[in-house]
Amino acid sequence: MTELLYQTDAYMKEFDARVTAVEGSAVALDRSAFYPGGGGQPNDVGTLSMGDRTWRVLKVRKQGEDVWHTLDAEDVPPVGSEVHGTLDWNRRHKLMRTHTALHVLCGVVWRDYGASVTGGNMEPLRARMDFEFESMRKELVQEIEEKVNAEVAAAHDIRVKILPREEAFAIPDLIRTKINLLPEGIQQVRTVEIVGLDLQADGGTHVANTTEVGRIRVLDYKSKGKINKRIEVEVTD
Ligand SMILES: [Zn+2]
Repeated sequence: MTELLYQTDAYMKEFDARVTAVEGSAVALDRSAFYPGGGGQPNDVGTLSMGDRTWRVLKVRKQGEDVWHTLDAEDVPPVGSEVHGTLDWNRRHKLMRTHTALHVLCGVVWRDYGASVTGGNMEPLRARMDFEFESMRKELVQEIEEKVNAEVAAAHDIRVKILPREEAFAIPDLIRTKINLLPEGIQQVRTVEIVGLDLQADGGTHVANTTEVGRIRVLDYKSKGKINKRIEVEVTD
């Protein structure tokens, strides 16, 4: 079982860990700050090192309770090794800004238009999000962009909590998200709140304050069906 360090400290760039299992060129660790991907946020990359040897971490994935790190060579550190992990922080921080930007977008669109999200995906500084909108016009998109940037500039803090299942299910704001689809067995729910704007059950990594996001620009919008409209955004400094 891997302790998910990124869940409680999104700003951890380096960490020490022990190899608990090996499978081909992949190693499982007892703790990891590498995000394994999920919820539209891609996995982290970076390096693992032991002594004077360094491996590139090409891919990270979660399987059951373990986080697996695929390395760039077949001769990987054996079970029991103490290793040092280093994230590609430049890339991860861009993903944190982008991910947080999407929460601001979601929060504004829900608050002012009552439209919920049907899907989304991101890469560093680029993202798309699908909403239940019947129609989308240029003026509306511009209005959304202005409102989103006003909320970013309003310096909202982002708070992360890990709550017992019952407590999380009792929060009315979480009902509109997919919290009710969480599997029966899950005893704890991680919540991410943009204070005063948005609250979601979420496993990803985010910045600590909206001012860290930068600016959001809508690049494009298109219809993806009768009630599905896609907004594509870019995050800039
Ligand atoms: Zn999130």
